[in-house]
Amino acid sequence: MSEVMPDFQLARPTTLDEAVVALATPEARIIAGGTDLNVQLRMGLAAPATLVDLSLISALKTLESSTSGTRIGAGVTLADLASDERVAAYYPAITEAAALVAGPTHREVATLGGNLCLDTRCLYYNQSHWWRKSNDYCLKYQGDICHVAPKGNRCRAAYSGDLAPALMVHDARLEIIGPDGIRQVMLADFYREDGADYIDLKPGEMVTAAVLPPPKGPSGYRKIRVRGAVDFPLAGVAVEAEETKDGKRFTIALTGTNSCPIMVDMPDVLTDDPNAFFANLNKAVQKAVSPQRTTTIAPHYRRLSIAAMAARLARELV
Ligand code: SF4
Repeated sequence: MSEVMPDFQLARPTTLDEAVVALATPEARIIAGGTDLNVQLRMGLAAPATLVDLSLISALKTLESSTSGTRIGAGVTLADLASDERVAAYYPAITEAAALVAGPTHREVATLGGNLCLDTRCLYYNQSHWWRKSNDYCLKYQGDICHVAPKGNRCRAAYSGDLAPALMVHDARLEIIGPDGIRQVMLADFYREDGADYIDLKPGEMVTAAVLPPPKGPSGYRKIRVRGAVDFPLAGVAVEAEETKDGKRFTIALTGTNSCPIMVDMPDVLTDDPNAFFANLNKAVQKAVSPQRTTTIAPHYRRLSIAAMAARLARELV
């Protein structure tokens, strides 16, 4: 790391309206827990003129649950999310994903909103400034070429948030506030397959909450990572199992393999031949993902691993 923090102004709003005003200033960036952004600032990957600290806005920190669904404020910490009994009872995939993010000290300050908006990651990007400079930088920031796919015209950095797939299998919507007011978007539609432009947030907008309908069935989340105690997912999978009149149907969402979290197209229900069904599920997951050389771990290994994890988790939920 380089190193020293760049100079910036610090805004500390106490209401959402104040936050929107602060975010309207040129080159403003949000900071909440800071577990992602602080590292980027020190590596020279961002140089905002103003940091808008959201930690004093109590409206972002509420978690409400009723028979009609659950609303989780974007400022709820991952530690609080992982220990909430209501979330564990209705949305176990979310509890499991929150508990597997980084290490305990990160989870004490990292927030739901920060994890959903987590920057994409790449071996050639998450490096010190001198390292990136010696490689002529790259397409995502300050450079002209992608070292992972030199003939391509977009960044392939991997989206590595754990919470997004867990919320997506539960049909989460996001509440977003900005200069034009409040809007909602399905979480599955919030992301784009572009490592340099991966979320649908317009200038001045911020995520305020995730809203979940009642669960359709049991769910779970699994991931692989290099360091088991504290690391981003090389691949992560969330599955929800729903009992329908035609049989058990699975909703599957993935992270760590593409530049955005993705849903797997799974139209079939569990048949009388479970071995064939889960073999097909494995193939469907392998087909859905596009892992690239963005980590030290081979793309083929990540493809096989995520498919095996998805099939095993789906079996566990039957
Ligand atoms: Fe840079 Fe390419 Fe990696 Fe994106 S995928 S961060 S453009 S090297």
